[in-house]
Amino acid sequence: MRLVLLGAPGSGKGTQAARLKTALGVPHISTGDLLRAAVAAGTALGVQAKAVMEAGRLVSDAIVLGMLEERLAQPDARAGFILDGYPRNLAQVQALDALLARTRQPLDAVVKLRVPSEAIIARTELRHKAEGRADDDPATVRKRLQVYTEQTAPVAEHYTRAGTLRVVDGVGTLDEVFARIMAALGKAPAAAAVR
Ligand code: AMP
Repeated sequence: MRLVLLGAPGSGKGTQAARLKTALGVPHISTGDLLRAAVAAGTALGVQAKAVMEAGRLVSDAIVLGMLEERLAQPDARAGFILDGYPRNLAQVQALDALLARTRQPLDAVVKLRVPSEAIIARTELRHKAEGRADDDPATVRKRLQVYTEQTAPVAEHYTRAGTLRVVDGVGTLDEVFARIMAALGKAPAAAAVR
């Protein structure tokens, strides 16, 4: 299964991807996690990305594509992947299309988690307190939401036009949202998940 998860920052993509990874048996590839690892490791690329991420803006397409290509070339991604945080603008849609066409790995599905902005702001505030992510402070979240509206919302429109987008209500418990995603993928969730 090759799946793209779309949704605003704080919509629960990362949390659901961790769960989907076990259910679908494919790796969770988050460009945000790849970038945070590069920042933590202090690589040249991480140093370049840090300030941009802390400002809530998008890291350059070339840097992110390079990291993604490298990750997708690892053996575990042959079985498929759950892509979280990519593509984030229309140029990245084209880059992903070209990459997957070259490796003959077309996407199976694109799922968007729909969460109202008030819930996003509340969730990222909680995450800021719990995890201390610098870009979860309220001012940066507002900037990230603006970037999402301007640059990432057109990505969902692109997949709607292509007929591949499935929109899932992202408000609810982890189990509820997980069950909705599995249903949207045409897969029965594990018994424990439905309750
Ligand atoms: P995330 O964890 O997906 O919210 O990503 C955290 C930050 O990493 C974003 O606010 C961006 O600065 C950067 N980032 C993650 N994915 C991308 C991407 N596909 N393109 C550009 N920047 C990205």
